[in-house]
Amino acid sequence: MTIDIHIHPLVKEACEMEPRLFEWQREIYGLTTSPQPLDTLVSQLEEAEVKKAILLALDCRSRWGCCIPSNNIVAKIVAKEPDLFIGFASVDPGLGEKAIDELKYAIKNLGLQGVKLNPALQDFDPLSPSAERLYAEIERLEVPLLVHTGLVWSRKHRIKYCNPLVWDEIAYNHPTMKIILAHCGWPWVWDAVAVALRHENVYLDISNTFTGTPREHLRHLLTELIPSRVTERFLGEKILFGSDYPRIEVPKMVDAAKSLSIDADVIRRILHFNALEVLFK
Ligand SMILES: [Zn+2]
Repeated sequence: MTIDIHIHPLVKEACEMEPRLFEWQREIYGLTTSPQPLDTLVSQLEEAEVKKAILLALDCRSRWGCCIPSNNIVAKIVAKEPDLFIGFASVDPGLGEKAIDELKYAIKNLGLQGVKLNPALQDFDPLSPSAERLYAEIERLEVPLLVHTGLVWSRKHRIKYCNPLVWDEIAYNHPTMKIILAHCGWPWVWDAVAVALRHENVYLDISNTFTGTPREHLRHLLTELIPSRVTERFLGEKILFGSDYPRIEVPKMVDAAKSLSIDADVIRRILHFNALEVLFK
C-alpha cells in the first residue's frame, strides 16, 4: 500500500469549477499540458496501488491574484472520493490576519487536514513575521505543513526563499509542527537532509524528477547523491513518497521507488509508513 503525499488536483473538474484555472496553471504554475479528467488521476492511483492521495491547494492571491486551485475546489474534489483523497489547504501569508481566518475555516469547516505553502510562487520570506504568525496557528491546529523547497524552473518566480536551510530556524521555533520539505530541497539536498536529521518534526518528500526519468532521478537522489547507506541508516523514517502529479505520472514514480536498490523495509516506510506517522499520529 502506498500514500502519495504530493498531488496537484489540476484536473478537468477543477477547471470547470473555475474557468480561469487553466490559464493560471499555464501562466503562473508553468504547466502547459491540458487538464485530464479526475478519472485519469484515480485510475493512475489504482494502477499504482495508492490508497491515500494528498491533494494540494495553492493560494497566490497577494502576488498573482489567483489560487491554483483554491481550498474550496480541493474540498469539493476530496468529496468526490473521500476514502481516497485528503486535502491540504493553502493560505497566503501576504494576506496577514485574513490568512489566519481562512486557515481556521479550511481546517475546521472544509475538513482539510494539512497546509501547503510555496515561498516562490507565493513570494514570501519563510522567516517573515506574517509567516511566523501562520506557523503558530498551524502548530495550534495540529496539522502538518508541506512546503516547497528547492528549484522552480519558471523565471517568473524567485528561488531565494526556497533554500531548505531556513526551515532549521522554523522547526526549532515550532517543535510540534510537522514540516515536510518537498523535493528533498533539490538541488540543496544536503541542506534539507541536515535540517531533517536535526529535527524530529522535519521530513522530506521525493516528489518530482529533476534529473531525468523517475527511475533515473530517484536512483540518483537516494542512492548516489545521498549514498544508499545514508538513506538506509539515517533517513529511513524521514522520507515520504510523493509524485507531483500531473507533472509526473503516479505509476511511474511508484515503480521508480519500488525499484531502488535499498533495503525493502526502508522502501515500505517511504511508500507508506512514514506518511502514516505524519498524517495520523
Ligand atoms: Zn508540487
